Amino acid sequence: MMATLLVRYGELGLKGKNRRFFEKTLGQNIKSTLLDLQDFKMSYQHRRLIIEINEELLQEALDRLSKVFGIASLSRVWTTPLDLELIKEQALLLLKKTLPRGGSFKVQTRRANKKFSYNTYEMNSELGAHLLRNTDGYFVDVHEPDATINVEIREQEAFLYSSSLPGAGGLPVGVTGKGLLLLSGGIDSPVAGWMAMKRGVSLEALHFHSPPFTGEGAREKVLDLCRQLKPYGGPEKLHLAPFTKIQKAIYSHCPKDYGVILMRRMMMRVATRLSARQKAQALFTGESLGQVASQTMESLAVVEEAAGLPIFRPLLGMDKIEIVNMAQKIGTFPISTRPYEDCCTLFLPPHPVTRPRLESALEAEKKLPVEELVEDCLENILTLKDL
Ligand code: ATP
Ligand code: MG
Repeated sequence: MMATLLVRYGELGLKGKNRRFFEKTLGQNIKSTLLDLQDFKMSYQHRRLIIEINEELLQEALDRLSKVFGIASLSRVWTTPLDLELIKEQALLLLKKTLPRGGSFKVQTRRANKKFSYNTYEMNSELGAHLLRNTDGYFVDVHEPDATINVEIREQEAFLYSSSLPGAGGLPVGVTGKGLLLLSGGIDSPVAGWMAMKRGVSLEALHFHSPPFTGEGAREKVLDLCRQLKPYGGPEKLHLAPFTKIQKAIYSHCPKDYGVILMRRMMMRVATRLSARQKAQALFTGESLGQVASQTMESLAVVEEAAGLPIFRPLLGMDKIEIVNMAQKIGTFPISTRPYEDCCTLFLPPHPVTRPRLESALEAEKKLPVEELVEDCLENILTLKDL
């Protein structure tokens, strides 16, 4: 048995070419998320998508589709030929299925096909009367019904459905551009990545690690974070950048209290160069204003000065508790809290500056072969594709 799903997407701001691009991207994203579920068919109709899928795979498909950004809502629909008697029969089945123990209902008809012999008013009353005649314990309430039996009269068939599941909202991944996510093994950056994707950004991830100080476990952790984000449209690639040389150079030659700031500035430089190579238009981080010493307004400004691209911080206004809740919701929390060393905690100074000055950072960097270190790090990036 095949089941039919109706996928609706928000139409806000969707005009002309933009809409076609939006629809096409959403369609591609849906296809790739359902790819391994056999025999599914997809078509575009009346600014919505129709998916036909084997009934047995329906729940799995719904779970996957609930993570696809750009979907406003989804309904399982039942189809019948354009014949009033058959539509009545199907409406009755649907009402009993939706409200097995009786209750209030209303019928709501939409007529896309104006050639159909009954108008929406006639349909509502014909169907309503049929439902009342053939049941016990049901009554009509047009204002606050327990169930709404929706009927759509289409060109070739009628669609009937009684409920809609909310979609993930947002925009289809890929429609707003490409970003490079600075992904640590922490709680915040995966959530930032999720939020970037929600706004339609396709991502690649960049992780700095410090072999041999950070081991296989740390690497596995970021890889698992990427895999956990995958169903949301998540990073296509993971770039692993070796950071040990840079950290050692900073540690040996620069003031300790500027250590974190200088590391972050180096990360921005590497990320900027990598973005040029990968055609990413912006950097995304998990920073949130005032969360730690390196995230004061002064620190963010001094770090940002070293980046050649806009830095977007989707978590900027969020509290830690809100971020943790989101991490739990998207399933990254248990991975992020695995106990492995992070490259930044390794060389962490006891008293980092909270109000760094750009001049001091620039002064400290005079003691470093900045260009050489950045080039060396870039050349040694390992890129993982099939995550
Ligand atoms: P997170 O939980 O994302 O690690 P955090 O609150 O621990 O964030 P920091 O460690 O100060 O904050 O890092 C701030 C941001 O810098 C991170 O959200 C991430 O975007 C980036 N970042 C930090 N460490 C790394 C790393 N090793 N590789 C890539 N990006 C990093
Ligand atoms: Mg961190």
